[in-house]
Amino acid sequence: MRKRAIVVGSGAGGATVAKELQGDFDVTVLEAGKDFRRATLERGSIERLRRSRLLVDPHLLRLVYPPIRIRRTPDMLLVNGVGTGGTTTMATGNGIRMDEDVRALGLDLDREFEEITREIPITTAHQLRWHPTTRHLFQTFDDLGLDPVALPKMGDAARCRHCARCMLGCPYGLKWDSRTVVTRGIVGHQFVPADLVVLAAGGFGTPAILERSGIGCEPTLFVDPVLTVATRVPNAWQCNEIEMPFVVQRDGYILSPYFDWISSLFHPQWRHRLQDIVGIMIKLADENVGSVSGKKVHKLLTPADRSRLDEAVGVATEILARFGADPHDVFLGTVHAGHPGGMLPLTEASASVVHDDRLPENVFVADATLFPRSLGNPPILTIIALAKRVARICAGKDAGIRSRPAGRPSR
Ligand SMILES: Cc1cc2nc3c(=O)[nH]c(=O)nc-3n(C[C@H](O)[C@H](O)[C@H](O)COP(=O)(O)OP(=O)(O)OC[C@H]3O[C@@H](n4cnc5c(N)ncnc54)[C@H](O)[C@@H]3O)c2cc1C
Ligand code: SF4
Repeated sequence: MRKRAIVVGSGAGGATVAKELQGDFDVTVLEAGKDFRRATLERGSIERLRRSRLLVDPHLLRLVYPPIRIRRTPDMLLVNGVGTGGTTTMATGNGIRMDEDVRALGLDLDREFEEITREIPITTAHQLRWHPTTRHLFQTFDDLGLDPVALPKMGDAARCRHCARCMLGCPYGLKWDSRTVVTRGIVGHQFVPADLVVLAAGGFGTPAILERSGIGCEPTLFVDPVLTVATRVPNAWQCNEIEMPFVVQRDGYILSPYFDWISSLFHPQWRHRLQDIVGIMIKLADENVGSVSGKKVHKLLTPADRSRLDEAVGVATEILARFGADPHDVFLGTVHAGHPGGMLPLTEASASVVHDDRLPENVFVADATLFPRSLGNPPILTIIALAKRVARICAGKDAGIRSRPAGRPSR
């Protein structure tokens, strides 16, 4: 009889593991959320809501966008997706390889990344249809010697309609998300026996499950905080452009043009018409200091995070000034973050088997909880690559490394 595997979570990691284990195991995906439903708000109704001043609490977003979960810490909002597809459904589609840290630990994921390029379309074709504001911004970044590069997007980027709704769920189904791989999971309370359990409940969810199971993680949570620096430019229409069309890599942060929905909806200072706002996102590689305990997340910006953020705000302000803005008209958004991970970090000892000794032998983790530190960059492709390796090890298919046969009894 075929062995049974339980995969917890249907986001980037869970969907990948579930797909890869099919055939070797009977796979059941446990998903805490319901089927994904995108937010269908049009610009006119969004503007009316903003003018009504009813939008005071970001938690209210769930009323029109049920899969989004927003938590508040003193320094930032934490965002993730709960539902089929996990947070991939609200991602902005960026697909870049970021495995230098795990490679430094001796984990070579070349084979997995090669598979990914065959399975997921990833292109920069969207740049052929960039709006004038984006082209002008690209030129401005370039003039300042910042070396901007178009961001590869997962999905059918050539047909992208540049509507800026990526975070609210692509209305045209053009953006890749992990529902392409797993369409449904089991939702609700059931007892499901299994020979193998793979946890991929995300950087907040997996440590919470481990804690409830008596397995302590480390207080090394990172989240990649985002802060948008914005200004008013009449009829810039960045609210109708693909999110993050290009990127600049800096030491400890990235910069990218971004229409910030969270700040536009909830920040009291963001009162300009949507079409008149131009923003540059700072995404920080934060220090891994923080933790998850039960439903609570403890995460503050450290002095080093703040100083790097200040430096980045200075650079973004200079870009907007060169773009034509008066630096006095520049305003900041709400710090929010959606790339959690790092609480069961891989080490030189655990990297080759992608398994931490604290876990029972038939329990694996397959999400960013394993990352040794923040990427400060889009993590989905690297999570998928890691999840592929986890699946290969569980199925005993990886000849190059010590394989742990799944299904052995727990300690
Ligand atoms: C606004 C936004 C934009 C982003 N854009 C990008 C981007 O462009 N490119 C990129 O690479 N990354 C992006 N990210 C980050 C990326 O989406 C996540 O890092 C990635 O989806 C994490 O994958 P995961 O499988 O670890 O977790 P998730 O995708 O979060 O999936 C975890 C799943 O587990 C489920 N779950 C949690 N707890 C339980 C439980 N106890 N039982 C059962 N199920 C449970 C959740 O409901 C969820 O479906 C973005 C994030 C945000 C918030
Ligand atoms: S910009 Fe619009 S059409 Fe393009 S991927 Fe994002 S949501 Fe889809």
